Amino acid sequence: ALLNVHVTKIGHKQPQGYVALIRDVTEQEKLQAARRDFVANVSHELKTPLTSVKSYIEALQQYNDTDEETRKRFLDVIDHETNRMVRLTQDLLQLSGLEMRQEPFRAGLIHAREWLETSVERFALSARQQGVTLVSDAFPVVSIRGDRDMLDRLVDNLLSNALKYTPRDGMVRIRATAESDQLTLTVEDTGIGIPEDDLPHVFERFYTVDKARTRKFGGTGLGLAIAREIAERHGGSISLASEPEHGTTVTVILPTVEAR
Ligand code: ADP
Repeated sequence: ALLNVHVTKIGHKQPQGYVALIRDVTEQEKLQAARRDFVANVSHELKTPLTSVKSYIEALQQYNDTDEETRKRFLDVIDHETNRMVRLTQDLLQLSGLEMRQEPFRAGLIHAREWLETSVERFALSARQQGVTLVSDAFPVVSIRGDRDMLDRLVDNLLSNALKYTPRDGMVRIRATAESDQLTLTVEDTGIGIPEDDLPHVFERFYTVDKARTRKFGGTGLGLAIAREIAERHGGSISLASEPEHGTTVTVILPTVEAR
């Protein structure tokens, strides 16, 4: 533990004693370190695409006689990198809004079956295009008290990860069961999985298993942090199990309410 010691002399003119104040500042230190890491990470994550955009713009400015094909290639890179920065700032704003409780919580009654069915529909096309089978069983007829936009985002983050990290001919399965006042939602995939050493960190902001892999898939390392924040705001929890080369299962538990 890191201790902060503060000693004060008591008694006027002639000291009659000392008071020592000892505080454990380990937690404070940790928080500050996390904040420093966070700022360094954001700066780095923005600087990389910005540097690349800048250099491509400069190249376009310098060579007026660049052929059409090269111009197009350069503009594609600029477009790609700009999209990355847009995604990153969106994720950041969402996460900080959630963490600072700024994001309004519009609580309503959510029917789990309809919520999950429409979520699956949003991914049906991209799954088919990717050659991945998206399977869902009948969802239970229960209700949740929560914010629909946030809950949509939660499922979207899990399904998009599952699809992102599952190669062609794989399978993504979404299931839900309800018992004793809670809904258990699982998103299971037969994808590339996560190495054991990385497992404890995947819910941390900006944590990505493999930088090269993430860049290719366009991840920001914020998806699971956002998912956890949303689950917790709904009084629930989220956990993840994975086996490299076999697949990943994410489990979300949310409290249900009596539907009226
Ligand atoms: P990202 O936006 O980079 O996907 P996340 O916070 O959603 O960030 O995930 C953190 C890391 O966990 C990712 O870099 C990815 O490597 C890994 N990951 C998340 N979900 C899966 C999954 N279903 N299969 C394999 N790896 C995953």
